[in-house]
Amino acid sequence: MLDLFKVGIGPSSSHTVGPMLAAADFVGRLTGHPERLEVSLYGSLAFTGPGHGTEGAILLGLMGHQPDTVPLDLVHSVVADVDAAGIVQLPSGPLTFDRERDLVPVFEIHPAHANVLRFTAGDLSVAYASIGGGFIAELVDDELPPPSPPPTVPHPFESAADVLRCCGEQDARITDLVWENEVYLHGEATVEAHVDEVVSEMLEAIDRGMATTGNLPGGLAVQRRAKELGLDLVEPDPGHSLPPTGPADWAGVFATAVSEENAAGSRIVTAPTNGAAGIVPAVLRFMRDFCQPVVDHPERVFLLTASGVGALIKQGAGISGAELGCQAEVGAACAMAAAGLTAALGGSPAHVENAAEIALEHNLGLTCDPIGGLVQVPCIERNAVGAIKAIAAASMSLRGTGAHLVPLDSAIETMRQTGVDMHAKYKETSLGGLAVNVTAC
Ligand code: SF4
Repeated sequence: MLDLFKVGIGPSSSHTVGPMLAAADFVGRLTGHPERLEVSLYGSLAFTGPGHGTEGAILLGLMGHQPDTVPLDLVHSVVADVDAAGIVQLPSGPLTFDRERDLVPVFEIHPAHANVLRFTAGDLSVAYASIGGGFIAELVDDELPPPSPPPTVPHPFESAADVLRCCGEQDARITDLVWENEVYLHGEATVEAHVDEVVSEMLEAIDRGMATTGNLPGGLAVQRRAKELGLDLVEPDPGHSLPPTGPADWAGVFATAVSEENAAGSRIVTAPTNGAAGIVPAVLRFMRDFCQPVVDHPERVFLLTASGVGALIKQGAGISGAELGCQAEVGAACAMAAAGLTAALGGSPAHVENAAEIALEHNLGLTCDPIGGLVQVPCIERNAVGAIKAIAAASMSLRGTGAHLVPLDSAIETMRQTGVDMHAKYKETSLGGLAVNVTAC
């Protein structure tokens, strides 16, 4: 479950991180040095790949890089470097590469998935689906294979109802169940180290984003605003009479900072996707700066609980904007952050489930319509509002008893059905919504 939090690079988990992993996997399978290598990009990867850094990510993967360790200066220069040299440096040696010829967009949705890419070199041809959150799956006979059975763990659960039952039977918190499952799979030291790394990368992304100004790349001339928004909270501009509405305003600023870092292709933590990567860190930092958590290891409780809720959403519906719209990205992140905050502030499992449900329910139907195919507008503000909404959901839940009408499982299933019914133009293709009603210059 903690693999929902992966250190990587922006701007997109499905269009940047996934394709880089697929490319690295493919070159790892080559048995010799190829004479030519071609990559076909289907569906959403063809429509919005250029704005999501897909081409650079594939080149980096072909060079053998991984999202969590690739040097950031290389991320920013790789496309120009390869274009200038006409060569990509595979682990097996230099390969002539013409981006126009060898990266082939196919503007139709592959029947297996909205995000498919096929690599071909000589006799070897492998197709992958980038299924969201930086996860990839190799196609078998051009179809998505059935999901592998979940690993054996001490507390298996498939639904929020299972989780609540298990917590009740064992007098445990959600974080305890997730902790025991993760420790069983990976060992205590690895889980602790992963949590520490995730917290540290999340906080660093906030600090970098709060300290950086200027325009974001991509041609929309979108200005970074996190620093300016933060300064206005400290010393409000006399030109407006808005008082800060409270510490939640800061969460919006923190989310803006991370989302701007993501849009700039910088290092961030996928949580559970890159497009929605601002929400969980922002609410985590809100908890650290403004709340008095009542649990030991509050960051760990926050992240383990959030990952448990994220896993339920991923299992029951999905976390890919190309599959289910933005409700599956920002909605999922909002539910995860609401759950994490509620748990760290001492909420019962019922409070946690209630907070996650409130947060998810009020993102249902949210479409994915990024202007210019860039993860900038509406994505950055959507993260800011998502963080504030997560805090509101936690607050509403914690001030109640945890009893509520709509179970989290019903909200997840509703999200799945809504996403399936959503027209393809609202699912990360930039063919509908804001993407066609605002002129990108
Ligand atoms: S609109 Fe939402 S789902 Fe689409 S790219 Fe932006 S953050 Fe991701």
